[in-house]
Amino acid sequence: MAGPMQKNPSEFNPGATLMRRLEALSLFSEGGDGVTRCFATKEHHQAAEMIQAWMRDAGMSAHVDAVGNVVGRYEGTAADAPALVIGSHQDTVRQGGKYDGAMGVVVPISCVEHFNNTDQRFPFAIEIIAFCDEEGVRFNSTLLGSRAIAGTFDMAALETTDNDNIAMADALRAFGTEPNDIPSLARSKKDVLAFFELHIEQGPVLEEEGLALGVVTAIAGGTRLSATVTGFAGHAGTVPMDRRRDALTAAAQAILTVETYCSSKPGLVGTVGRISAAPGAVNVIPGKAIFTIDIRAGDDALRRQAVKDVCGEIETLCQQREVDLTIDVIHESDGCQCAPWLMEQLESALIRTQHPAKRLMSGAGHDGMAMAHITDVGMLFVRCKGGISHHPAESITEADADASARAVLHFIQNFEPLNET
Ligand SMILES: [Zn+2]
Repeated sequence: MAGPMQKNPSEFNPGATLMRRLEALSLFSEGGDGVTRCFATKEHHQAAEMIQAWMRDAGMSAHVDAVGNVVGRYEGTAADAPALVIGSHQDTVRQGGKYDGAMGVVVPISCVEHFNNTDQRFPFAIEIIAFCDEEGVRFNSTLLGSRAIAGTFDMAALETTDNDNIAMADALRAFGTEPNDIPSLARSKKDVLAFFELHIEQGPVLEEEGLALGVVTAIAGGTRLSATVTGFAGHAGTVPMDRRRDALTAAAQAILTVETYCSSKPGLVGTVGRISAAPGAVNVIPGKAIFTIDIRAGDDALRRQAVKDVCGEIETLCQQREVDLTIDVIHESDGCQCAPWLMEQLESALIRTQHPAKRLMSGAGHDGMAMAHITDVGMLFVRCKGGISHHPAESITEADADASARAVLHFIQNFEPLNET
């Protein structure tokens, strides 16, 4: 139990402890570069044991629920008080980093440890959840843990299988939980005051502006499209340039259209991440090209307009080039606006801890998207080196870990639930 935080509980400088804990969690990994910790695996189990031990040391009750979330609770002044729910995910992508997800688990635990050591209790309970599966690496289905809490878990997902043909239900039983109990995890709105998540930025904005922390305004929604351009294949030597119906050059122009359009509007990002050409020979004019388009924005209306405009422009250029075009929507998710009242309280926490109240959008998805079904959502970003994430080179500083913990501490201490009258 002896630790730097116990020696002088009135001071709160958990940076070194946080870095040590993040390092300790990162060791629960499948091996290879970086951290690979997937849902319902041995590594997940080991991480869950360690997180529960930290929660209990912090004066919380802790358990692993039916879907594999680690849930800790620090009671309020009254029994069964509604909770401020704080959390992030324990899982990683393959060969990911030490901080994506884990930051948002270890930091609030250190805050509660401080409250416990200094005899602070609040009119609300504090729940910390280490969500089981946000990245969706093993079963290709994201936000499993937060969906279970929000009551939107699709029980049909239990039948999906991983690469080794193991069904999710069997994986959970081997992990030690009963998947049939997942529906009982759904929280009622009256028991949850808000959801808050601390996460690394996964982008370069804070670093470029020399800031440690920023308040998230929205989690971007996204549309993913698959486009197929069909021209006419032909001999690379004999078909003159003005007679060609080259599918790949049309696709190339389409890719630039995505880039040009999305560069022209603030708040919008667009990416073509995959392309293939057929028949795919050095001496054949491509007759077919298939590529993806990923368009995201915090503002759903902006994104929908962008999808419409970009598809329209690609349609026009394909007509001019006399090639055929089909575009299918393969995925669509609406954005999640962070609650203005939580953004204001988070800004106050930044100002009180000597940080400018910077606001920024999240281009990546987070558990808040699922939690928004039952409660208002707030998020705080921490600067990460080079904006790098989902990579072994993911990095933060001890000073920033310390600063983020102090801001979260202030946010919780001064948290005022929205008065719904
Ligand atoms: Zn994450």
